[in-house]
Amino acid sequence: MIRALTLAASALALSACAATPPPAATAAVSTQPGRQYRWQLGSGEAAVLSRQAHLAMAAFVAAHAKGPASSVVLSAGSTPAAPRFGACGNRPRAVVYDIDETVLLNTGANYDSAVRGDPPFDPERWAQWERDGANAVEPVPGVVEAITAIRRAGVTVVFNSNRDRSAAASTAAALASVGIDNAVPGETLFLKGDVAPGSAKDPRRAAIDAKYCVIAMAGDNLGDFADAFNDRGLSTPARRALAQNAAIAPLWGNGWFLIPNALYGGWEGGTFDDLFPADKRWTPKEK
Ligand SMILES: [Mg+2]
Repeated sequence: MIRALTLAASALALSACAATPPPAATAAVSTQPGRQYRWQLGSGEAAVLSRQAHLAMAAFVAAHAKGPASSVVLSAGSTPAAPRFGACGNRPRAVVYDIDETVLLNTGANYDSAVRGDPPFDPERWAQWERDGANAVEPVPGVVEAITAIRRAGVTVVFNSNRDRSAAASTAAALASVGIDNAVPGETLFLKGDVAPGSAKDPRRAAIDAKYCVIAMAGDNLGDFADAFNDRGLSTPARRALAQNAAIAPLWGNGWFLIPNALYGGWEGGTFDDLFPADKRWTPKEK
């Protein structure tokens, strides 16, 4: 389709050429998706980072499948700045995965957005994707091997996603389409509207933690680990600092596993002032 648009634009440019010089705008039809898509979906670097994180998690889980363990879900009332974690007792061991851009690449929906120049997020269009897109997803590199190894170690795999509970069947079908079966609503699949209304994941995490000993979690958004990271009152630099504060930093790669996602996330509001400290700005001297 992109090629067809390009050809049409070229034809228009050629016909315009006969009468007047072509305007500079003839090159405006993009033949390449945005830089974020090229990195996320095309680069070996993104694939390796994803694989590295998923397989590190599988190795961590294999090492902690038996013996003493504590949950990696923040205890009620504690925060990423002052975390507390509960003992596991005799609860069966589990891991918790987010789904979108953690387990599944939403390649079909990403195409739909990229080819339209990334208009603002449209909840209706996304709801349709949740219902109809099961066969246009791909597995995040490394995740299928990791989940296979984790299950083989006797640890239950639970999904906690902000897909809507009305799309439970199609979400399970999307997972099955990449070879990940046994996502059972209410047992190993928890979606928006389950447990509590809204997109907060803490109530679902607490429900999962009550039933299982959660020894590892994976997500592409900090909110996949604690809702506190997505507090709208946090500035971009404060959110970045909170994720690395001394009390919580040891969890990364050691119970909490972050999967790279350059397409969207809680980081999108960053401004020049947020990203470039005043004393770190450089431009070449005028000659
Ligand atoms: Mg996600």
